[in-house]
Amino acid sequence: VDKVAKAKVVSMIKAVPDFPKPGIVFRDITTLVEHPEGLDLTTDIIAAYYAARGAQLDAVVGCEARGFIWGATLARQLGVGLIVLRKKGKLPRETISRDYSLEYGSASLECHVDSITPGMRVVLVDDLLATGGTMAASVALVRELGADVVGTAFISDLPALGGRAKLEGDGIDVFSIVAFD
Ligand code: AMP
Repeated sequence: VDKVAKAKVVSMIKAVPDFPKPGIVFRDITTLVEHPEGLDLTTDIIAAYYAARGAQLDAVVGCEARGFIWGATLARQLGVGLIVLRKKGKLPRETISRDYSLEYGSASLECHVDSITPGMRVVLVDDLLATGGTMAASVALVRELGADVVGTAFISDLPALGGRAKLEGDGIDVFSIVAFD
């Protein structure tokens, strides 16, 4: 990613120390999306990554909730549809679900079974990659329905928490615009 663009993205993300608990630096993207150029800039960078690879995509998959923001802009940019993975109990039709662990306890993501047809080439998107638990569950969910996962995309990545290594270790392509220590 171009250094100037990267610096611009970093400048739009607000670091909030000790949220939601002491010791965590929360990377707040609300300031980025409030910036008039933030969504265009970040969406263009992600779309350019897949364009440069000549990726043929059938859909973008967005993880609730911040993944919906870029899921929507990226799908529009790439000229494909958006499939939403939602927290438990929100999708009205037949779903499959995956549990994943969080720092405290666990959570569940669901996908409508008819949203994905076998062989569909998808990119999954979320705002941030930390331990990789959320994205690993998301990938497993869409693969269970037969999706071909072309890659995963994030605005930022915290490599120290191991998510990138975990996903790449499973052969999953990871693209993130910026990395924070
Ligand atoms: P993980 O499953 O550990 O990779 O966590 C990723 C999910 O938690 C993403 O949906 C992020 O939005 C959120 N998240 C985790 N850590 C942070 C952080 N330091 N700042 C902002 N969001 C975070």
